[in-house]
Amino acid sequence: MSAIKLFELKGNVALITGGNGGIGRSIAIGLAEAGASVAIFGRNREKNKKILSELKKTGIPSLVLQVDITNRSALEPAIKKVEQELGPIGILVNNAGIKSVSGGILNETEENWDSVIDTQLNAVFLLSKLVAKSMVKNKRGKIINIGSMYSFFGSGRIPSYSAAKGAIIQLTKSMAIELAPYNIQVNAIAPGWFETDMTASIKTLPLNDEIILRTPAGRWGKPDEIIGTAVYLSSKASDFVTGETIRVDGGFAIR
Ligand code: NDP
Repeated sequence: MSAIKLFELKGNVALITGGNGGIGRSIAIGLAEAGASVAIFGRNREKNKKILSELKKTGIPSLVLQVDITNRSALEPAIKKVEQELGPIGILVNNAGIKSVSGGILNETEENWDSVIDTQLNAVFLLSKLVAKSMVKNKRGKIINIGSMYSFFGSGRIPSYSAAKGAIIQLTKSMAIELAPYNIQVNAIAPGWFETDMTASIKTLPLNDEIILRTPAGRWGKPDEIIGTAVYLSSKASDFVTGETIRVDGGFAIR
């Protein structure tokens, strides 16, 4: 197989949670451009409409469903709908995320804690479990979890986020071990600081200067800069890579 063909995703169906904005949107468009049919779960109607029209422009079969991934009973029917319309899901990108800037556990409310853990961790477990069932049947699959710099570092400001993102890396390794015999690879991407809705407010804070100073690349990442790693981890090119976390951070974590 030629090197370039290793990265082709034609014939695959990818499900991207939170693919209607930010990093998830870039991953969705990138996987579609590489040939995969793309399904998205997102909550916001307007954002869902917009990404659907962008996906349609690629000419690739696509589907955007209004799904809140913390609504557990909605997940199985939504996955079934994707599989009925597009075919068996071969690529799952657990990307959807929220943060709660509580300033630390002393201020963190139980509700906010639960909401972050439900979105960033519990939904990842449930979606992976449901999607892995058909991957196991097909003896083929790719699961990509989105971690963070806070998968490695603690945070006094966003402890729930840091706890979830740390756990994601261990869950990635655990699922990788369990699912490897079925030819399913499970990996994570740990983005550094990327310009998205989630981080927009940081630009006006002193933290912005700290980020630029600490990042050897000297700048924020653009969401499209995740695409290469996402395509690689979705493709045959990574068939012997599993349980790995790839940092895409302009060098932030090496300082
Ligand atoms: P955005 O806020 O831009 O996008 C997050 C997406 O997740 C939204 O489009 C949102 O869709 C969706 N989402 C959130 N909650 C739910 C839910 N319950 N059900 C369905 N969809 C949901 O953030 P980013 O693109 O920045 O973040 C994407 C991922 O990358 C997250 O996991 C984040 O933690 C991680 N990350 C981001 C970094 C950054 O610097 N930006 C750094 C490291 C990691 P909707 O509006 O429709 O709810």
